[in-house]
This record gives sequence, structure tokens and C-alpha cells, in this order.
Amino acid sequence: MQQVTILGSTGSIGISTLDVLQRHPEKYSVYALAANKSVDTIFEQCIQFQPAVAVMLCPDSAEQLEIKLRKAGLATAVQSGMQALEMISSADETDIVVAAIVGAAGLLPTLAAAKAGKRILLANKEALVMSGALLMREVEANNAILLPVDSEHNAIWQCMPVGDTQQYHFENKGIRRIILTASGGPFRDWDIDDLDRVTPEQAVAHPNWSMGQKISVDSATMMNKGLEVIEAHWLFGVSSDKIEVVLHRQSIIHSMVDYADGSVLAQMGNPDMRTPIANTLAWPQRIDSGVEPLDLVKAGRLDFSEADFARFPCLALAYKALNAGGTSTAILNAANEVAVEAFLNRKIKFTDIARIIADVLEGVQSTAADSLEHILSADQMARKVAQQQMRKLCNH
Ligand code: NAD
Ligand code: MG
Repeated sequence: MQQVTILGSTGSIGISTLDVLQRHPEKYSVYALAANKSVDTIFEQCIQFQPAVAVMLCPDSAEQLEIKLRKAGLATAVQSGMQALEMISSADETDIVVAAIVGAAGLLPTLAAAKAGKRILLANKEALVMSGALLMREVEANNAILLPVDSEHNAIWQCMPVGDTQQYHFENKGIRRIILTASGGPFRDWDIDDLDRVTPEQAVAHPNWSMGQKISVDSATMMNKGLEVIEAHWLFGVSSDKIEVVLHRQSIIHSMVDYADGSVLAQMGNPDMRTPIANTLAWPQRIDSGVEPLDLVKAGRLDFSEADFARFPCLALAYKALNAGGTSTAILNAANEVAVEAFLNRKIKFTDIARIIADVLEGVQSTAADSLEHILSADQMARKVAQQQMRKLCNH
């Protein structure tokens, strides 16, 4: 029996993970669940999965959850705060940690899981974008296993010469290119001049995937694909000039690897995150995920087109940050988090997101990303400068 900790259990990925787990009660049990403040959802999850521990980042929410659980007669221990998140990620009782918190908040517990040598199912791409070198170093030094849940990276990983031992270096394996597919989000066919009128409701309505708000906006700006280019760089040890993005509106091919002999390997499936979740949970075995079989006749066609940097300036900014190195990608990530939140709160326009990120990348000095302190201070500085830039924009 494998014991699982789910960081971000009340989110889109967390809920899909629990859906896969409940199909295999003989293989997996839940050790811990964690969320920010969704008390009602995590309470229902505790009733169903009876974890030993439940953590809420927010102390007030933890208090409310504790009251509800005691009333229901459940023994689940309730804790709050970042240290508790790190504890459930590194505890001896847990074998698998699903890193599905959104944003920079997921970094410390993911690092804790790496240091404790856990099997990590990584959805929280922001952790790698902020601290790729550091996280990969901890994974390797502590014999942790880092498996990509992000559908593109899961696809690439399945197309890599992995076998049944985990590897992170593919320099001499005859790989010519990694081809990341992108749906292009809800605005792929819009007139570029209309993009400054986009509302949050329009931006979170993704044509192919149902996801949390932040990643949905990231998909609309294509910053999501930019973050994924950076994620691919760290996961597979491939330089940015070998990572390409191509638009593929059906989201059936989840990504591809192009080899020196001309073979291009692709992984396909319905757009449902339960596939990569089940794949990483059971690897190197395969288990049922509940995903419908792919109906190729119904899908009918697979279209591809160029990813346009003029329409999607965030994608260009992500390549720029990756090439600049050091803490640039942490700066990019922090600026993006601040800008996306402001857009969702109707404080800035959709097209301001890229403007703010570009300004912050210009305005904050990148340094070596060799320590957590450097990374966290770059993150803080970028958030501060992003707020300043927003105030300037709002005063105009
Ligand atoms: P979501 O917004 O639906 O859920 C986020 C979860 O994190 C919730 O459980 C929330 O309570 C928790 N959380 C948020 N802030 C927290 C904090 N400060 N401390 C503790 N918990 C906190 O997000 P999602 O769509 O499930 O995405 C989660 C991560 O997975 C993101 O990094 C995203 O980029 C990545 N991802 C998601 C998908 C998808 O299909 N949803 C696909 C690929 C990658
Ligand atoms: Mg993805």
C-alpha cells in the first residue's frame, strides 16, 4: 500500500488525483490532504478518504475544519501553516507527494519532499520555474523521483528513452528537438486589437481543458507554455534552442520528441489530467484512470500552426528569461503571478499582463539562482516592482 500526500487537494489537479486514487483502494491510501482555505471541500474529502492529517495554510480555516471534523467524529489531525505543509511532504509515513499547489506557495513543500527522497508527482510547474537548478539538485542528491504531471511533460517523458529507471539527462540520447504542443487558449483566433477588451470570464473559459483560474489565464496569454518551456529545460536537461512550441488546437497530441534519425514520437489521448496523474502514480506500471478511450474517428483531424510571438508576447518573455538565466525565471514567475491576480480582480487589462512582466524583467537585477535565499529575495523584489508598475499603469 502506497501512502499519498496531496498538496492542493481541493484544486483541479487535487480533485482529479483523488478521482484516480478512489479507483484503486487496494494500491493507495491518503496520508495527508492540504489546501489554502477551502474548508468545505477538504472536509468532504476527509470524510471520504480519512487521511491521518489535513493541513490548511490559513489558520482560521484550520480552526473551522477542526470543529467540523470533531463534530463528524473523525480522527484526522488538523494543522496549519507552511511548516505543516513541509512536514506532510517529508513525513516517514508518506511515499508519494502530489505537488498541486498553484504558484510560488508550492515551492517549499516540494523542496521538502525532494530533500526527504520522496516520489514527487509535479503539477506545480512554478516550483521548477523559480528554482529549477536547486530543485533538480535536491532530487538527485536525495534519490527522490520527480515525475511530471503537466500533460506536455508527461507526454515528452513517455516519449523519452526512460525505461524503468528515472533519468533527468538526455544530452547524448539523439534528441534533436522537444516539441511542446499548445492549444492556443480561448483567443487564438481573435483579432489582436481586441485583446485589450478581454474579461476575466472570457480568459478562464478554456476551449479544451478545465483548470484552476491562474493556469487558465496563463493559457490565454500563453505564459503557461512559456513556463512549460522552462519546465522542460529543467526536467529533461535540454537547452532552450531545442525546445519548440507548436499550436495544436485539438489538444490530442500532448507533445512530441524529435530524434536524430527523423523519428518523431508523440503521446496522444483525450485532454484529461487523470491520464498523466495515473501514469505518474503507477509508473512503471499502467493503471486505469477513468479516462474515456480516444476516438480518433470522432476527433477527425489534427491541426498544427505556428505559435505567434506578436499575439502571445508572454511566450517570448519566458524564452528571454530562460536565456538570461539565474533568478530571471523566478522574477518572470513572480511578476506573472501578481499581474494575473490583478487582471482577475479587474485592476488591469489583459494586455497589461505582458507589459508588467516585461517591465519587471527590465527593472529587477537577475543574480545567481544557487540558493533558496537568492530565489526568494528575487521573488519578493519582483512582486514589489510589479506592484509599482501597476500603480503607474492605473494612474495613467
Ligand atoms: P487550482 O487553483 O484549481 O487549485 C490550487 C490548489 O492549491 C487548491 O487546493 C488551493 O487550496 C491550493 N492552494 C493555493 N494557494 C495555496 C497556498 N498558499 N498554500 C496551500 N495551498 C494553496 O489550481 P490547479 O489548476 O489545480 O493547478 C495546480 C497546479 O498544477 C498549478 O501549478 C498548475 O500550473 C498546475 N497544472 C494544472 C493543470 C490543470 O489541468 N489544472 C495542468 C497542468 C499543470
Ligand atoms: Mg500543461
